[in-house]
Amino acid sequence: MTFHDFNFNEQLLEGVLSMGYTTPTPIQEKTIPIILNGEDLIACAQTGTGKTASYLLPVLNYISNTHKHQISALVLAPTRELAQQIDQQVEGLAYFTGISSLAVFGGGDGMAYEQQRRGIQNNVNIIIATPGRLIAHLTSGVLKLNHITHLVLDEADRMLDMGFQDDIMRIISYLPKKRQTLLFSATMPGRIRTLAKAILTDPQQINIAISQPAAGIDQQVYRLHDQQKTPLIKLLLKDSAYASAIIFASRKEIVKSLYKELKAAHVHAEAFHSDLQQGEREEILLKFKNKLLPVIIGTDALSRGIDVEGIDLVVNYDVPGDPEDYVHRIGRTARAATTGTAITFVNDRDLKRLKNIEQLIDRPISQKELPEVLAGIQPVKQERPHGGAYGDKRRRPNRYKGNKPKPASN
Ligand code: AMP
Repeated sequence: MTFHDFNFNEQLLEGVLSMGYTTPTPIQEKTIPIILNGEDLIACAQTGTGKTASYLLPVLNYISNTHKHQISALVLAPTRELAQQIDQQVEGLAYFTGISSLAVFGGGDGMAYEQQRRGIQNNVNIIIATPGRLIAHLTSGVLKLNHITHLVLDEADRMLDMGFQDDIMRIISYLPKKRQTLLFSATMPGRIRTLAKAILTDPQQINIAISQPAAGIDQQVYRLHDQQKTPLIKLLLKDSAYASAIIFASRKEIVKSLYKELKAAHVHAEAFHSDLQQGEREEILLKFKNKLLPVIIGTDALSRGIDVEGIDLVVNYDVPGDPEDYVHRIGRTARAATTGTAITFVNDRDLKRLKNIEQLIDRPISQKELPEVLAGIQPVKQERPHGGAYGDKRRRPNRYKGNKPKPASN
């Protein structure tokens, strides 16, 4: 199958080819005909599968064929990083169609709000938004969504995890009842099905290899204790040919202290966490994307949003508590059928978590031998300040419960 088979209009096809896409990914093959057919859709697909283009392309095709100068599509996403990445994909794919889009998200200063307000008044075709900030524009009366023909919920499970359910329902109350609704989610817990029932009409369902990491990822595990983790990272980054690497840690305290240690070891890295200003976060991501920054250290906030080509190493400094988070973290490498390495550090306390992951992905992860130079490093009895995988969870069993982000800062 090729992109010609979808009968997209010429300008859109030109955009697709200019993005370097030659063959549709499996999810694109399945979803695009359904969406072109005007049907509602629930798609269970992880990032890295090409899911964004799988809904953008048919929506762009519809908008460019109808030539309407109004806000026709709304995409809701959980984080500003994801919203910006979707917006960038629209820019690339729609380059020759004349379709315009606007990313609307919280944070930033009054100027950012004002820019978004002006963008809205310019009658863009597609708005990509985090729910909190969108509501601010809706209630101010600037934004009217009464011409929306397409609503997309991207990473719906994450939006519910972040407490956006009420905001989503409120936004939907501003939309025309007659519309096409597309719901994308990496997981399909009961809450998502309930939401889908409330907002979709006779949806088609698509399931793409749920919770399976991309085949191109070489997954490895090191069994070690906490004092060996940072020395091993230094070794991995020093001795190997990894040009672009992400290190995930469960808490920002670990991110910050690892950043300091790597900096002291002259490793060119940046820490990405919620204490940074939006501008600082964007600058780090941009440098990383442009290959001016080889290493980025971050919490799971990074794992869903970041869409960077050519990441060849993902390191899990600790094992994520939710096995799905593991799939998301390592999904940052080997995107769209390339290859990459994902290395996970496992201490004694994290063994159970590793088992859960292996159960989810339905195979054991190969265990690598620890480099000999690290064997002499002795464990320190009190490991919590550094190992950290449990510190957060013990205080807050469910990390999102009661932790709804303020709308303006999502
Ligand atoms: P996503 O799963 O939407 O986050 O997409 C993952 C990456 O795959 C993005 O960098 C897309 O630009 C890229 N991509 C999407 N569809 C294709 C395709 N058909 N061929 C090659 N790359 C693609």
